[in-house]
Amino acid sequence: PKQRKSHEVPTMEKKFTDIGGQERAKQELKEAIDFLKQDKEADHYGIRPLKGILLTGPPGTGKTLMAKAAANYAEAAFVAASGSEFVEMYVGVGASRIRNLFKEVKTLTAEKNLDRGVIFIDEIDAIGGKREGQQQKEYDQTLNQLLTEMDGMLTSDSPRILIIAATNRKDMLDQALLRPGRFDRHIQVDLPDKNGRKQILDIHFENKPLAEDVDLETVAIDSYGFSGAQLESVANEAAIYAFRVKNPTITSTHISTAIDKVMMGEQTDRESTE
Ligand code: ATP
Repeated sequence: PKQRKSHEVPTMEKKFTDIGGQERAKQELKEAIDFLKQDKEADHYGIRPLKGILLTGPPGTGKTLMAKAAANYAEAAFVAASGSEFVEMYVGVGASRIRNLFKEVKTLTAEKNLDRGVIFIDEIDAIGGKREGQQQKEYDQTLNQLLTEMDGMLTSDSPRILIIAATNRKDMLDQALLRPGRFDRHIQVDLPDKNGRKQILDIHFENKPLAEDVDLETVAIDSYGFSGAQLESVANEAAIYAFRVKNPTITSTHISTAIDKVMMGEQTDRESTE
């Protein structure tokens, strides 16, 4: 079988309709991609090309989903990496990984016969965060390589590349990353409100056998403060409870138990890091 490149993401295409809530963020991202699709025209007006979009917000709110949906909407090849994998002991490794990431997206774009490629870097703060001491040198090289690659990207280049990065800690980022022409467009991805939670629950319960008594509107109220990732867990845990007792459907009791479990899980996580 054909060997897959390390960062290529297999058949997990996502669309904006797979993302519940986040209306404003989805809209902003779509507009950015529409702009990217017309970059030759924008170039004519001397408009600075869009190279980097920064998604900011708490964990589990769908930033990765957004990046995938954006790539799909842009009809672009998609490669992804996490900032934490660039942090290595040996000087130079991080920088060469950055170079490889750009090579990979170009190769994949050519293979798929596309004009555009999207590179997604999760936890960008691991590369471009403020840091001290011995890690500084390696970190500088990795960050500099990323900046060099970004500065070298031109609208006339084929394929056109867009970098989408995500962070929970925008305040931690090196200012060099945020300069015009780099990650100069920021989209905030917040925790979902009640309507958003309802939409996310609809998505994750769609293919599950819900009992008649379940009202997802009420579940959305009961799950105040939950992220999309937590709501996905609620749906999965509730299904597991129903499965365990061999109940043909998922009842509101299963869902309440799942909500408690996800909430408790959060607390245990927090306690162990305190
Ligand atoms: P992190 O900051 O921890 O990397 P993230 O913001 O990138 O998190 P995702 O990885 O996109 O979050 O979300 C994790 C999972 O949670 C998704 O695969 C999906 O199942 C669910 N999820 C999160 N947000 C949403 C949403 N808005 N709509 C539907 N599902 C969601």
